[in-house]
Amino acid sequence: MSFTESVLRKDETHIAEVPVEHQQQFNKKRIGSIIVSDKRCILLHLNEGSWEIFDEHKLSSEPFAQYRKNELYSVFFPMPDGERISQLKSEYISNVEDITGSSYFMNAFGEMNQEPDIEPDDCRCERISSNKVLVESENSELSESFGEQEFRLVSCKDCHKIYGRYREGRKASFNKLFSADWLLGGDSTSESIVEIGKDEAFAIHHPPHGSTRVQDAVLTASQIPRWSDDVVSTYKHEYQHALCYIQDEEMAGYLTWEDHDKGPILSQLYVRNEHREEGIAATLVSEWSEKVCESDHYFADDLTTGGRAVLESIDHLDTRSGPAQEVYSLIPMAFG
Ligand SMILES: [Zn+2]
Repeated sequence: MSFTESVLRKDETHIAEVPVEHQQQFNKKRIGSIIVSDKRCILLHLNEGSWEIFDEHKLSSEPFAQYRKNELYSVFFPMPDGERISQLKSEYISNVEDITGSSYFMNAFGEMNQEPDIEPDDCRCERISSNKVLVESENSELSESFGEQEFRLVSCKDCHKIYGRYREGRKASFNKLFSADWLLGGDSTSESIVEIGKDEAFAIHHPPHGSTRVQDAVLTASQIPRWSDDVVSTYKHEYQHALCYIQDEEMAGYLTWEDHDKGPILSQLYVRNEHREEGIAATLVSEWSEKVCESDHYFADDLTTGGRAVLESIDHLDTRSGPAQEVYSLIPMAFG
């Protein structure tokens, strides 16, 4: 009998096991596990060689798992379970930190990037050509996917404000990177234009492995708010689709989603500062849900307060008739 089987009851169906590891340079050691069935989420940790149950939560609806390259990427818990799982996770983290004396990384895919020394508002950087603005050498999330010459952000070395992107020897500022002419001027054969019934505006649907120009623009935009309250996760260009909102010839915002058997998962929603308060986020989500996502329901992953307000403003989160269901995602955890 496997360890998981010994934890689960006969009437439960195993959904996923979320690994909790301790990492030190290249050594990884299992120090805990979160076992998820259709009925329960059980948090366990190893204490002096023996498994102990830290806590468990009885689920009110069935969670689902997502795998990438045969590895567990995430387990999604619909609300309200998600809220409780998120609390339990924080308690679990403190407990593991107390026992092991190590600290929790943001996620299992790398350490957090260094926080800036100076607040962007207090910094005197101005433009991509100033000598404080450099091609980034360290960005743990980007370096997972790209070589140093292939793709990097260009940012201020003091406040980390992003000014553009670097690709294979060339820098591009936002003016170029987000301009509609540029986005549609490269090899954009896999992109499609979505009419959104507004003058001076349309959207570009970018599939995974679509044009490099649109990919770079979305990747860069996903990093702009990295130390702010609107923080969005990094766009996963290999797996996620993007829908970019073009207004007055430039990309004003975007959303991303990923296909899943259970329904599409809306991952990110972001509107650039210059285009806030114009209703772009709400239009983007409703047009996507009606014309692009090809499903009458979808999941919204880890909404920020702003994102939730947008979905509520178009009645998407209405529990009876709304197409969206909010989910919380639990990903493999690492301490070190
Ligand atoms: Zn700066």
